This record gives sequence, structure tokens and C-alpha cells, in this order.
Amino acid sequence: MSLRCKVLSVLLGAMLLFSGAEHAIHRWFIFPGFLQLEEQEAEQDLLRVSQAIENEIRHLDTFCFDWAAWDDTYQFVLSRSPQYIASNLTLSTFLDNRLNLIFFYDRQGRRLWGESHELEQGQQLPLALFRGAILPAALALPTASGQELAALKRTGVVATERGPLLLSVRPILTSDNRGPVRGTMVMGRLLNAALLGRLAEQTRLAFTFQRSTAAVDQGPLRFDKSDPQRLISYQPFADLNGRSAFFMRLETPRRIFQTVQAIRHHAVLFLALSSLVLVMLMSTALQRIVLGPICRLKEHAHAIHTGGDLSARLQLRRGDEIGQLANEFDVMMAEIDQKSAQIAAANGELQRLSGEDTVTQLANRRQFDARLNHEWRCLLRQQRPLALLLCDVDFFKPYNDSYGHQQGDRCLREVAQAIRKSARRPADLVARFGGEEFVVILVDTDQAGALTVAESICNAVRLLEIPHRASSVDRYVTLSVGAASLVPQAELSPALLIERADQAMYRAKQRGRNRVEAADPVSAPDDVPSFQLHL
Ligand code: GH3
Ligand code: MG
Ligand code: MG
Repeated sequence: MSLRCKVLSVLLGAMLLFSGAEHAIHRWFIFPGFLQLEEQEAEQDLLRVSQAIENEIRHLDTFCFDWAAWDDTYQFVLSRSPQYIASNLTLSTFLDNRLNLIFFYDRQGRRLWGESHELEQGQQLPLALFRGAILPAALALPTASGQELAALKRTGVVATERGPLLLSVRPILTSDNRGPVRGTMVMGRLLNAALLGRLAEQTRLAFTFQRSTAAVDQGPLRFDKSDPQRLISYQPFADLNGRSAFFMRLETPRRIFQTVQAIRHHAVLFLALSSLVLVMLMSTALQRIVLGPICRLKEHAHAIHTGGDLSARLQLRRGDEIGQLANEFDVMMAEIDQKSAQIAAANGELQRLSGEDTVTQLANRRQFDARLNHEWRCLLRQQRPLALLLCDVDFFKPYNDSYGHQQGDRCLREVAQAIRKSARRPADLVARFGGEEFVVILVDTDQAGALTVAESICNAVRLLEIPHRASSVDRYVTLSVGAASLVPQAELSPALLIERADQAMYRAKQRGRNRVEAADPVSAPDDVPSFQLHL
């Protein structure tokens, strides 16, 4: 998984976590608080509705009390004068005071007078519609005496066949509120559509007032929140006898709910957009600040790894940690480069030293062996001759004895240079074979060529004219050289060439030194089947 994927996954995970936490906080802490506020507001509205109804009842009762505690009414109950009815209880009394019902009862509960009107249509209603609901309330007026008579009343709402009826029942007293109570006066106002409309206008609330049925819970205040647009609240309303016979149904627009929902939607949208912008910004910043430089560093390291160019430098000019890492990398690479160059130089030197003779600076025996094997294999493939010269300083032990060992070394160095100058071809190799013996490899050279080079070597050394008083063959240092050449064969080995050159050199010693001897020609094909001498 790439660094970008990892960082973006962590970022995405964190955002999901945050949005989950935000959702949980909203759902379990913020949202319920607003819902509670909504319910409290609805409860307040219901209170205003019930207060409006109570006010209506209070007004009705005040009006009823004015009539019941009035000497004319008191007299009417005693005299039952039709004059009282004619002058006071006309249709306009009902209309002007928005009364649907006025009843007078005597103390025994007999109705003295009563009328009921439907105000909107102006028609009279049959009294039987209300009898069942009113009579018990009228008869159940509590008893009292003296000053308390004025406080005697029964008010509330009763259910009738024409719907809920606001009712006021008052004892009939004199104008100065004295008894004895002559009967009861009942006034009623139907809580019909007209009155409800007036109360709705007054309270500015959309409500209905209905009789409780089995379908509607008669329990305490409850809310129906199934509609996101409207909150429907139900609250029971007690009738005149204290029973929950009615309920108020209030519809209020869910402004709080909708505002909260709108805020929530905006918040979610804002969160989503800001998350998106954040992810994009983070991604771009990550690419520019972290991933880009790291990729450059990775590609740089890869190029060094594959190309092997230790001198390459990244040179990231940044002050942050990645810049410091890149600088450290450059410094490290510079050190590796330097150390590598030192190691390479040391290796070269070691290589050179491992193949060089310390006294003469010629190739040593190890280099000679490697070279001889190499040339042997090459010329075996080409089937070309390989020649070897074995050069031995004559009477060198006596030379040492005579001139000292250090002078012996100097002599050896001079001889070595002379031999090197005589073997002029680039492929020729002059090596110190051991002690005062030198060997020369001559590539692609037959016996005749080898003898020519050998002679020139002998002459070159002689011409150095290094004094040698202990020599019995010359006044100067001389060489005895054995020369051999053959075409390499698979069944032969380079050792044979050395052996033959050695034999020839030995013969040169035997025949008086300071001379060149060629290797013997092959005596019998059986001895050396593929041996081929070039004489
Ligand atoms: P010949 O003519 O038969 O070759 O006699 P020679 O004395 O040269 O041969 P011998 O093998 O008897 O002696 C070789 C001498 O070379 C012995 C040793 O003292 C000397 N020698 C070998 N290596 C070195 C060297 O590195 N420096 C010096 N100064 N002398 C060396
Ligand atoms: Mg020797
Ligand atoms: Mg010698």
C-alpha cells in the first residue's frame, strides 16, 4: 500500500469517525433538546387554548351571575310574570350575548322557562337536545348561606347532542346577593365552529375541541410527530364534572424541527464539502510536501543502485526533515563515493603489488603463471606458437659474494630493464622467475623469433657492461638464455614449455654460458605426440 493510500485511508477513517460522532451527538444530545423545546412550545400553546376556553366560560359565568343575582329575575321566579320574559329574554338577548341557551329552574328542578337557539341560522333548537346534560348540573348546585351565596356556581363544559357546551349555573338571588335561593339560572354557549374560529383567531392557534372517544387516548398530554410539517398535540380537557370527556387537538407548524433539520442538512453538506476540500488539500499538500520529494529520493537511490553512478547528488534544497534526509543521503553518498574511490585505488595498488616483484618491479611469478596460462589458452584456440625465454645471470652467486648483496640487487634491476627493453611487443611479458632468473613470454612467436629476441636480450645485458670480476666467461655481467616455442595442444600443459626452456638454458650453462640455446627438437612423435617445434 502506497504512502498516499495509507495517509488518505487514515484521513478518511478519521472523517468517518468524526461524522459518526457528530451524528451521534446530534441525534442523542442536540436533537432531543430541540424536540423537547418543540413540545414545550406546543404545551404553552395548549395552555393558551385552554385559558381562552376558561376565559370564555368565565365571561359566560359573569354574565350569568349578573342575571341570576338580579331582583327582577328573583321576582320573575316568584311571580312568573310574562312581562319579565317579554322585556328581557328576546332573541336579541341570545344574539347580542352569543348565548345558545338560557334556562330557569325552580328549587325543585322544574323548568320555569327555557329557550335554545342556533345563532348562525337564527333557528330555535328543541330543548330536549340539552336536557340530559343540563338538568343534573342545574340540580347539583351546592348549598351555601349568607355572603357565600354569591360564590355558588357550577361552570364548565358539558357534552350535548349539539356538541360541547360552555355552561354556567348560578343560584337565583337578589341583587344584593341574598337568599333564600329561589331557583337556578343556566346559560350555555355552544363551543361550535363559530366560537372555535373566534378563539383560534384570538389565540392564533389552529385547534379543535372534541369529545373523547375510544379512538383517542384519554390519557395525559401526548404528541404525534409522524408528520415532519406539523406537530399534532392532544391534551385532555375535563368536563364540568371533572371527567376527561374532551380533548384539545392542536396543530402547530414544526418550525423548530424544520429549522433544526435544515441546519443539520446544511451542517452535513458543509461537513461533506469541507471534508472533500480537506482531502483534496491534504492530498495536494501531501504530494508536494512529502510524496514528491520522497519519490525523487527513491528514484535517485534506484538510479544509483542500477546505474552505479556514485557521484550523482540529489541536492534537494529544503529545510524540513525530508530535506535533511536528502542532504544526509547526499553526504553519505559523497563519503561512499570517496571511500569507493579509495578502495578502488587500493585495490588497483594491491592488484599491482600482488603481481609485481619488489626488487625489479617486473611481473612476479604469480603474474607470470596467470599470463602464461591465459596466453596458452588463447593460442590453443588460434593454434599459434607460444615462445618462452628463460634467462639466468651467469655466476651471480660469486657476483654477490664479490660486490655485496645490495649491489647484487642493483645489478638485477639493471638486467631486468635491459630485458624489458628487448622484449618490445606490447603482448610480451618479462617476469622475474626467481632468484637471478628471468622469463620472457613471447606471444605468437616461433622458435626462430624466440632465438632472435633471446640474442638481443643477451646483447643488451652485455652492453650494460656491468663489471663482474668473479665471472670466468666475461669481464661484464652476462646471461645464459634457453629458448623454446611450441603450438599449444589440448593434451599438453604450459609446464612443458617451461621445462623445455629450462632444459635449453641448462644446456647454455653447460656449453659455456653467455649464450642462447634453443630447445631440443622433438626426438620421437610417440613421446610428445602433438608437440611442434619451430626451428
Ligand atoms: P650459474 O652461473 O651457474 O647460474 O651460477 P650462479 O652463481 O649464478 O647460480 P646459483 O644458483 O649458484 O646462485 C644464484 C644466486 O643468486 C644465489 C643468490 O645469492 C643470488 N640471488 C638470488 N636472488 C637474489 C636477489 O634477490 N638479490 C641478490 N643480490 N642475489 C640474489
Ligand atoms: Mg640460477
Ligand atoms: Mg646463475
